Amino acid sequence: MGLKFCSLFSGSDGNSQYIEYKGTKILIDSGMSGIKVQRQLNSIDVNPNEIQAIFITHEHIDHIKGAGVLSRRFDIPIYANKRTWEAMLPKIGKMEDKNIKTFETNKEFAFNDLSLNSFSVHHDAVEPVGFTVTNSKKKICLLTDTGVVDEDIKYNLEDFDLLLLETNHDVEMLKVGSYPYSLKKRILSKFGHLSNETAGYFLTSLLKDREEIVLLGHLSGENNFPELAEKTVNNILEEKGIIPGKNVKIEMTYRDKAGKIYTLK
Ligand SMILES: [Zn+2]
Ligand SMILES: [Zn+2]
Repeated sequence: MGLKFCSLFSGSDGNSQYIEYKGTKILIDSGMSGIKVQRQLNSIDVNPNEIQAIFITHEHIDHIKGAGVLSRRFDIPIYANKRTWEAMLPKIGKMEDKNIKTFETNKEFAFNDLSLNSFSVHHDAVEPVGFTVTNSKKKICLLTDTGVVDEDIKYNLEDFDLLLLETNHDVEMLKVGSYPYSLKKRILSKFGHLSNETAGYFLTSLLKDREEIVLLGHLSGENNFPELAEKTVNNILEEKGIIPGKNVKIEMTYRDKAGKIYTLK
């Protein structure tokens, strides 16, 4: 029985990641409408009724949109840190007290047979986090919605087996694109999003030639496209002598559909 991962959606319009181990089935974020998340779960043969918890990275709408609806519809507890709850609660509708659960950033906790840890990222939300999810053997990490990476983030991702890594934009496309100047500035800031290039260089410092799987995600619909993200990252890796397909598997997630189901054994 392996640790399963499937990206239901990943992109600037909505994010939701599915993780399963033994009987435990959880979501990280639920940033599309409830019905869309349900449909994606159905598409990978998971009954939304069986989801036991939703863990939230931060209160932006592309991460929480369907969370309240799913919690009410299927009686699912939602876990977030305290400050995120304060910011999120007014946006997700009425919650039953028993389904409001908190965790502390940087404090590892168990959920059934899984161990979860959250770590701080640099983003314009109240207390945004990334997650690591492990069983005793394998480690899944999620890092999106951060303007920069630092030693602490790197430490948390150490020895990952599968990483969902943000490649939000191509800097040149963003600069010449149609976004208003203030939004461009926000995305490029320390509290914005990772570019294809930054993600690529960060990866070169992380990879250890242990056949890691890296999924590129949280792509902008305006300022990036999948082939460009993949090509940019692959070129940077190759420059450093890392061969995609051999030393590491680089694959995509999708803005509007579920990606592959990975089973880590
Ligand atoms: Zn965000
Ligand atoms: Zn986001």
